[in-house]
Amino acid sequence: MKPDQPTRAVLDTSALFSMQDLPPDIEAYVTPGVLRELEKFGDRRAELWGDLIKVSEPLPASVRKVMEAAARTGDSTRISPTDAEVVALAIDLNATILTDDYSLQNVAAYLGVPYRSVGLRGIKEIRKWRWRCVGCGKVFDKEHPDCPICGSKLKSTLSKK
Ligand SMILES: [Zn+2]
Repeated sequence: MKPDQPTRAVLDTSALFSMQDLPPDIEAYVTPGVLRELEKFGDRRAELWGDLIKVSEPLPASVRKVMEAAARTGDSTRISPTDAEVVALAIDLNATILTDDYSLQNVAAYLGVPYRSVGLRGIKEIRKWRWRCVGCGKVFDKEHPDCPICGSKLKSTLSKK
């Protein structure tokens, strides 16, 4: 990376919410979905930063790639279509993702897409979601409505890959 080049970054809603100002060293991008979420919350940052933030849509093929990765890490139920677009746009633009969303970071790490936390600390390693039965204690790789063995509730846990 050249020293005077700003980092190209895709921001998700959580990143925009936790920032008072845009970091000066980034070239900021958002997806149309992130803008819609900000508008839904009546957030004026999108207006104020309108000139500084570029809006771009990811390629459908990249969104599919992200959803496939999320299925593998067990994050598919935690990743919204908007989240998937953020990761996909970062792939398309060769950009860094700015996000405090744990699942989004997890999928980004899995795909080798660089990310930065804004508020919270970032994750150190890729983890996989698993579901442990509160009744019989069996652990499942996939989410079920309830335990296929004893019918008790399942609790999600994170484990190392
Ligand atoms: Zn059980």
